[in-house]
Amino acid sequence: MGPPGAGKGTQSKTLVDTLSIIQISTGEILRDAVNSETRLGLDAKEYLTAGNLVPDELVIKIIEERIILPDCRNGFILDGFPRTVEQAIALEKILQDNGRKLDMVIFIDVPEKELITRLLKRAELEKREDDNLSTIKNRLDVFKKKLEALIEYYKQKGLLKFVDGTGGSDEVNKRIFKALGI
Ligand code: AMP
Repeated sequence: MGPPGAGKGTQSKTLVDTLSIIQISTGEILRDAVNSETRLGLDAKEYLTAGNLVPDELVIKIIEERIILPDCRNGFILDGFPRTVEQAIALEKILQDNGRKLDMVIFIDVPEKELITRLLKRAELEKREDDNLSTIKNRLDVFKKKLEALIEYYKQKGLLKFVDGTGGSDEVNKRIFKALGI
């Protein structure tokens, strides 16, 4: 978990290499769907473009269908999901139904000023359609609105660990490994 620009994608990819598990990024799945104009993409496009959350049922379905595939057998990192308590509750049920469980929730913490700088830089490098100043601000607002309840939810379950997400990606990586106890 973490705000847009916190480094969820970058950090997940390092964990994938180290732990031989896979990364499931709802943002990436949705962007691919929009680009290839599938039914999901058409349904999700307006939300992504505006920087709003895609309806819970759409992302829950993505996760439901994804985690049962054979490449998830060793485990997986969820990147950008859940983003609402409703999604977190649905996730718990999906995992239970499949005899799985969440080991840990890592929150990558980065101050807002740095997030905006990072996201504007990414806009130049990656040309992501949702990385422009007004969409970025909306994504941060959307994130903050849902954040407290989600943090509370995972705190109560004793699963949440905060990691300082400032500095270089190697540094953050080390902190994440420490949090994971590896
Ligand atoms: P991300 O790549 O994680 O920053 O996600 C990019 C965009 O995809 C977000 O701004 C949302 O529009 C959408 N999205 C990704 N994950 C979710 C989710 N768990 N719930 C709702 N919308 C999502």
